[in-house]
Amino acid sequence: MRRPKISILLVEDYVPLAENIERYLALKDYEVRVVPDGKQGLYEAVTGEYHCVILDIGLPEMDGLAVAEAIRRDGKTVPILMLTSRSRTEDVVAGLSVGADDYLTKPFDYRELLARIESLVRRSQWRVETVITVGPLVIDADRRQVAWHGESLECSGREYELLSYLAHRAGQVVSREELLREVWGNPDEFSTTKTLDVYIGYLRKKLGVEAITTRKGFGYALTVECTQMPPNDDVLE
Ligand code: CA
Repeated sequence: MRRPKISILLVEDYVPLAENIERYLALKDYEVRVVPDGKQGLYEAVTGEYHCVILDIGLPEMDGLAVAEAIRRDGKTVPILMLTSRSRTEDVVAGLSVGADDYLTKPFDYRELLARIESLVRRSQWRVETVITVGPLVIDADRRQVAWHGESLECSGREYELLSYLAHRAGQVVSREELLREVWGNPDEFSTTKTLDVYIGYLRKKLGVEAITTRKGFGYALTVECTQMPPNDDVLE
């Protein structure tokens, strides 16, 4: 049976690049809709059903950062891959902090673009439209909201992804490699195991140190229920 086509929204104003990406992805059996400016891109992203949005930063009408922010404000969880011709770290940080899931610096290898898209789409599969409850932790994937002991918890995009993935595998030890692959996509120099440890630190600050257990040299487990129940040695096995 043929898989249903994966639909991609490409927001890129530079026509030769847009055409090349479209042609390449079409060859790989993706369905691509191209729009040339930020306002149209935002409209398409919030009204259409796409598996992934490829979003240029430098765009007419509305820049990519503002578009990503508006897509998230609208509550859309569609994965966003930012394209930037600037490799300046602050652009990357800005992009990720407004809700982009990954970024690629121009010029890029199309195979790399494809790998990033595949990874984002695969990751969004476990981000099912549902509510995950683990003890006092409630993650509403539809609204992209987290509640902790009944109080709303502010999380950055990456914190949210990391927490969701750990919650999805609650009670199990998840290896660092798996977390990097599933939450960060293709790890590069910006996402090493050190980055992961830093984000685990952020989450522990919010949930309490005991909420996430370290399995030394291997990975992490979300063990929030243990904070309410007597310790159970089986939980980590
Ligand atoms: Ca551009």
